[in-house]
Amino acid sequence: MADDCLFCRIAGGEIPAEMVATSDEALAFRDITPAAPTHVLVIPRAHWANVAEVAAAAPQTLVDMVRLAAEVADVEGVAGDGYRLVANTGPSAHQTVFHAHLHVLAGRSLTWPPG
Ligand code: AMP
Ligand code: ZN
Repeated sequence: MADDCLFCRIAGGEIPAEMVATSDEALAFRDITPAAPTHVLVIPRAHWANVAEVAAAAPQTLVDMVRLAAEVADVEGVAGDGYRLVANTGPSAHQTVFHAHLHVLAGRSLTWPPG
């Protein structure tokens, strides 16, 4: 756990978040600034800076994250209609929190390509 990392502090229970689902390796909670009717973040409990680092260091954790994202889509009732997984990686992609996360976006028609 990194003391100065927002998502480590959420994972540690120090900062509240609205949990949607959890697994052994990951947590899913609502984004504080939703960009779609369903906007949930899936993070690993342990700290890595981005999903590529998770894939390199702990591939099973990345699998767990994607499975949890699918579970979120199920419980949110959007699995049939469709959802988007986004992993902003690096500053030009507007990654602002450098603890790996997947955005689960759904509940409206999503534009393509994203801006
Ligand atoms: P990114 O820009 O891909 O790094 O995504 C970071 C996301 O974290 C943004 O969509 C923020 O709205 C979200 N966020 C920031 N602080 C919090 C928080 N305390 N609880 C939930 N989501 C947050
Ligand atoms: Zn962290």
